Amino acid sequence: MRRIPQPPPEIRSGDSSDDYEDPDQVYSKPQSVNMADRDVFLPVPGLGKERYDSLCSDDELLDDDNEPISSHRSSWQDYGLSTLQGSVYLPVRGRVLAPPPRDGPSPEPCPVLKIGWLDKNPTQGSLYYQRRWVKLDVDYLRYFDNDKEVYSKRIIPTAAITGVTNVGEQKFEVVTANRTFLFKAESDSERNEWVAVLQNFTRGRQEGSREMTSLVPPSFLTPGSPLTPEQQGYLELRGLRSKLYTVVSGDKVFLYKNMEDYRLGIGITSIDMNVGNVKVTDRRSFDLTTPYRIFSFLADSEQHKEQWVEAMRDAIGEALSNSEVANQIWAEPSNSCCADCGADKPEWAAINLCVVVCKRCAGEHRGLGPSISKVRSLKMDRKVWTEELIQVFLLLGNERLNRFWAANIPPSEALSPTSCSEDRRRFISSKYRQGKYRKYHPLYGNQRELNNALCINVQCSDVLETLCLVFCGADVNCSTGQADCPSPLSLALSHNQKLQAQFLSHNLNTELPRSEVTGVMEPQHYSPQHPVTHNGFLFKTASMVRPITERKAREEFSRRWCMLNDGNFSYYESDKTSTPNGALKSTEIVCLSVNTPERHGYDHTFELYSDSERLYLFGTDDQDSHKEWVKSITKMFIPSNAEALLRLSFERIGRLKYKDGLNLQSPRVGWFALVGSSLHAYLEDSEEEEEIHLRKLQELSIQQENEVLVLVERGRTLYIEGERKLDFQGWCVGIQKAAGSAGDSLSQQQLTETDIPVVVDRCIDYITQCGLTSEGIYRKSGVNSRVAGLCEAFRRDARSVRLKEGEHQVDDVSNTLKRFFRESEEGLFTTQAASAWLSTPVVPEESNKISQYQLLLSRLPRVNKATLRALVNHLYCVQRFAELNQMNLHNLAIVFGPTLFQTDGKDYTAGRVVEELIEHYTDVFEVDEQQLKRQLDEITVIIKVREKLNLNSSVPASGSAGDFICTVYLEEKKETAEQHVKIPGSMTAAELTCEILDRRKIQVREKDYWSCWEVSQKEETERPLHHLERVLPILHSLGTDSHLLVKKHLAMEAILVYLASKVDVSKHGMVKFREERSILGLGLNTGSFHDRYFILNTVSLRMYKEVRSNRPEREWQVKNLMVYLGIKKKLRPPTCWGLTVIYKSEKQEKPEKQQWYLCCDTQTEMREWYSTFLTIQYDGNVWPADAVQTRVTRALPVDTRHGNVALIPLRGSENEMRNSVAAFTADPLGGRDQQL
Ligand SMILES: [Zn+2]
Repeated sequence: MRRIPQPPPEIRSGDSSDDYEDPDQVYSKPQSVNMADRDVFLPVPGLGKERYDSLCSDDELLDDDNEPISSHRSSWQDYGLSTLQGSVYLPVRGRVLAPPPRDGPSPEPCPVLKIGWLDKNPTQGSLYYQRRWVKLDVDYLRYFDNDKEVYSKRIIPTAAITGVTNVGEQKFEVVTANRTFLFKAESDSERNEWVAVLQNFTRGRQEGSREMTSLVPPSFLTPGSPLTPEQQGYLELRGLRSKLYTVVSGDKVFLYKNMEDYRLGIGITSIDMNVGNVKVTDRRSFDLTTPYRIFSFLADSEQHKEQWVEAMRDAIGEALSNSEVANQIWAEPSNSCCADCGADKPEWAAINLCVVVCKRCAGEHRGLGPSISKVRSLKMDRKVWTEELIQVFLLLGNERLNRFWAANIPPSEALSPTSCSEDRRRFISSKYRQGKYRKYHPLYGNQRELNNALCINVQCSDVLETLCLVFCGADVNCSTGQADCPSPLSLALSHNQKLQAQFLSHNLNTELPRSEVTGVMEPQHYSPQHPVTHNGFLFKTASMVRPITERKAREEFSRRWCMLNDGNFSYYESDKTSTPNGALKSTEIVCLSVNTPERHGYDHTFELYSDSERLYLFGTDDQDSHKEWVKSITKMFIPSNAEALLRLSFERIGRLKYKDGLNLQSPRVGWFALVGSSLHAYLEDSEEEEEIHLRKLQELSIQQENEVLVLVERGRTLYIEGERKLDFQGWCVGIQKAAGSAGDSLSQQQLTETDIPVVVDRCIDYITQCGLTSEGIYRKSGVNSRVAGLCEAFRRDARSVRLKEGEHQVDDVSNTLKRFFRESEEGLFTTQAASAWLSTPVVPEESNKISQYQLLLSRLPRVNKATLRALVNHLYCVQRFAELNQMNLHNLAIVFGPTLFQTDGKDYTAGRVVEELIEHYTDVFEVDEQQLKRQLDEITVIIKVREKLNLNSSVPASGSAGDFICTVYLEEKKETAEQHVKIPGSMTAAELTCEILDRRKIQVREKDYWSCWEVSQKEETERPLHHLERVLPILHSLGTDSHLLVKKHLAMEAILVYLASKVDVSKHGMVKFREERSILGLGLNTGSFHDRYFILNTVSLRMYKEVRSNRPEREWQVKNLMVYLGIKKKLRPPTCWGLTVIYKSEKQEKPEKQQWYLCCDTQTEMREWYSTFLTIQYDGNVWPADAVQTRVTRALPVDTRHGNVALIPLRGSENEMRNSVAAFTADPLGGRDQQL
């Protein structure tokens, strides 16, 4: 055990024995605590004995009970070594001297209410007061050795403080349930300040907390805090003689002297885990490292150590991914923009002003001081965010608050997210310190009325009004005149207005805005918003419960007087009748759809859908009246945050439930508008309008049983749910129509991200891969019926067409591309501009000619421009390999001229244009030469590989046209381990493995489990292909960051042994589960791993919240799961024994993809789960049984091989497994020695 170093040169008077000492601090800063500079305080005479006891109970030695030392300490000369020996030093094993990194505008995530030096009462037996740096924030009263120290000597939850009283000169007591702390300030005024702020702060809390403090852990002491300790118990902290009671709770670790203290809530210090790192150092020991200190813990047993390490790692995960509160607060849409500057996703809040602000504005808020703005982080200050406080923020919201705080902002003073700090400071000070922009309450200036109004208002639920009153001068601490509820806070509580109480409690000592504006303030009055009103005659059919499929004739409509008023849309028999025939409240309307003109008997019609599944059709012949009605009705039922949708000329607008990457559990409400081929949306968690280009979707499908519309975009999947059948059906039809090709022109096609029709992109891609060496490419014709079939398939749904070598022929594809251009409406150069293009070849000067082409290019529509560029690039590449394919510039021009200009080919001018475009490709399109060179190099590699294969192959070159060539690595991904293999459609993983091993002449030993692996570098996962799995489909599904690798399956032996020992194929147990949740578009991961109970049987995998849960939270069909080894490190899996699971729904027409993670405690656990998956998915056929035969068959010619490789003993130590699972990049596996 560590001993305390030799005594320091001088000791502060009365070094506390139970306090934590940092020898470094003491030694390196002797001057700061020089006794000579300071007064020595003697115990206060006249204090009763009893008080002494309670005072001193705080300062018992940690190991008082069995150390005789304590008896010596009554002598006050004895504060030297003996005191130190009794002290608890936080041992220092590493220290960061630079200022600690912190995430936040200031190093204090939780703003300090009061801070300063105080003297604390002497230790038992000691005569000296101790100088302590004392900090009070919302959650804790803490004291430290000095003002530089990060870890306190004492931490007292403010909720545990039951009283604060003046005692004698300059002194005051802080009373908790059974301990009293005595402090002495430098002066009476300083003392009074401390007492005032403490009293103010703890007022109103004392009743409830008195009984709480005795049994509840500190995290509970903050009322409403949902935290429970994840791990607690005694741990040895190296350097200390006795164990500390340690509690891991939420994102913090708390240290207590003992369990008793823990029960009382009085701790030594807390460690914020957002800066923590946990490292196992030995069998029973581990380090918790922070930038300020290393805590070396020693657990009772290895098993305990693992539990602690896990709990602390969880706490780190918790701290790092603590966006729960933020997500809750942002659920109110206006809270997802900074209340001051409008910046996106503000992560801070002023909890007394009730505004959510960004980091930069939070810094300025902090500058105002906590008496004006109490700044807290949504992510770090987790404990302040009680359910009530969150409710207050949801109830109010930045937008409503700014109607008060920012009612009168001159545009010149408004902030933007990019404003400089000086502007911010000025603005925020004006806004909150002076209240310059606020909306004055009608009672402003009349103190008595304001107070009265406050007392009345806190009894109802209108917190906003309370806020307006308070910040217009009502006194939060005014007298209510009622004995039982003397303050507005107690009044609110007695009326069970928890949110009011929450607001008031944060403003008990708030300094109110003091406007520096002089002169008489004109009281301003509330101006009610002008409600939408509109009326007139419309023609209406009877309401329906089914979609309208047939044309409604004029006779089916009846003339009705319609009125829009007070959020109601009602229709009357005539303008004389006073009782409506029917009415719809704005909240009942869920969708409005505008029909194309002349669809029904009346020229202009629209449909209204109600949430009770009824459809109302209205019509008029007057286009303007129609427009006006649509505008007015939508304005009435679309909420203000989605108002921007109203400017669009939509076909359909309304509310739908949706789920997306952020939240797949419970659907949220979004507001959508369908405009042409775009779906505009205001989703619940973002205030920004989003536009989804439906023709650029990667996938679109309807999951019929759930009535869910699935839209897969790059980087995210949106699930739109059919909450109601009727309007959802309309949406589906509309969206599907909008997502398909709308006609034969280029821009009406389904497009890629870069605005190229999918058909063009797919064909060019295919020819580049497989057709560049094909003689006469683009000149030879394909098989007409096949070309027609392909064209039709692309026209129907280009997204779903996958061109595959072996399935499709080069000449069919090339002719499909040509046919597409020839038949496209308007052509690539557009009808209008075609003649200008055709006249360019005669432009004499070459540079003029190029400029002319560039000019014409710039005038082309976006899609045509992108397509022309892609096509000419492709043709440029084709002719660069003319030696192989015989298609030089001229030959290509002859083919493509008439095709692109849609001419008969008699006149060569069209060919000239194409020829010149290819010839001057780099100039006309201003191509980056480097990039072009790279592209050509890549193509050269492809061609070489194909050549090599054709030479090596016993199969004649012509026969290989349908094969796909791919690169497979042996053992690790590096150039020297590269093998180019031709993959016929029938090739299995086992066959591929054999081929690679054969080529490298690797001898397969007994029990060598060679397998072919699919490795994803991005996901940091790998998966051994099953030996019977076909390679080609896998290749087609691989992303660019994935590759195939042949290496040994080190765990296979263990897997086989495990499976052989199993009676039935099922498994159940606790696993840590985490879902892929990525924040929209940002790709940021949130969420963390949680314990779940899983049951895996031959049919399904079920997940339960707990062992005892009756119903599974989730259930998946096993056959739809793809299980990968490993979890990417970025997700901070709690152990390295993780699996990444991809779920794909089985049916092609409605694919759905989810990704989630399972993390096991041990390697064995993980292996067992993995083995069980394998055996279920392959019906027990995990590895070929006839290994011997396999080796025999390997000697046979390539084409007849069907068997597999043989077995060797398992070599996988835990370490190797770890490497293979978690980090193939770092260590591509042991066992290279004998094979390469
Ligand atoms: Zn801001």
